[in-house]
Amino acid sequence: MTISIGIDLGGSNLRAAAFGGDSATPLAVHREAVGDDRAPEAIVERMARTIERLAGGSADPVTVGVGVAALLRDRRGTVANSPHLRWRDVPFGELLGRRLGARYRLGVYNDVNAITWGEAVAGAARGYRDVLAVYVGTGIGGGLIAGGQLIEGASHCAGEIGHTKVRWDDDAAPCMCGGRGCVEAYVGGRYLIARIRRELANKRRKTTVIERAGGSIDAVTPGHVDDAALDGDAWALALWTELAALLAVALGNALAILNSQRLILGGGVLERTPALRTMAEIDLMLVAPAARLARDGVSIIE
Ligand SMILES: [Zn+2]
Repeated sequence: MTISIGIDLGGSNLRAAAFGGDSATPLAVHREAVGDDRAPEAIVERMARTIERLAGGSADPVTVGVGVAALLRDRRGTVANSPHLRWRDVPFGELLGRRLGARYRLGVYNDVNAITWGEAVAGAARGYRDVLAVYVGTGIGGGLIAGGQLIEGASHCAGEIGHTKVRWDDDAAPCMCGGRGCVEAYVGGRYLIARIRRELANKRRKTTVIERAGGSIDAVTPGHVDDAALDGDAWALALWTELAALLAVALGNALAILNSQRLILGGGVLERTPALRTMAEIDLMLVAPAARLARDGVSIIE
């Protein structure tokens, strides 16, 4: 049986699944935290051991697809920039390929492009030729399929909706990409959690959010804010109202350009914030009348 292994190297987790033949049911899955040692050599070594364990002992060839939360420079898997892994100009595909050896056929892709393609082939966007997928997790990633083709762009950066600008005034939030005013710098989990804790540290704010997190500001997550917003907490509602509009602007602008049939929303933040997601979807209908066409196509990946 041919073994295929899919790996997702994100900003927080390294996840892997092994599949046999054409079956979409995994033979085995693995998940670990990326952790603090993000040196490319350390991650390559850990990933290679995971792959070898999942591949088992036989000598049969194994196909490995790795999705990386990164801007890639070429098809060999050279990482131009990954703010979340703190990598710049890392020949990741070459390092991993050399470490794994000849038994493994390796492809390295942008993580969200890989997910988007997977959804189009076997998931929530199956049967659609024009798809926009947006994942709000540690950061915000996007993937595009137009006319049935994955759109990678001239330098493999197409679909980076997280770095489209939703503000451009003097107060626009700085982003780890080096720009400012990016939607990711507002709604991306890393920035969102930092802002929530910063605002909660200001004791003048009246909100139930800290109690919901057991009394500790450091334990507050976007999920607690979402629960509070659903209960009418004024601070939580005001924050969600602002962020829903910013996310809707980014989504609406993208849909206006792409005329997608199907919008897929997912990622760790949106999975845990149904109120924020619903508010953004309502705003989206107002921001972009064209998005009404996609309304029935909004699909949430849990
Ligand atoms: Zn940015």
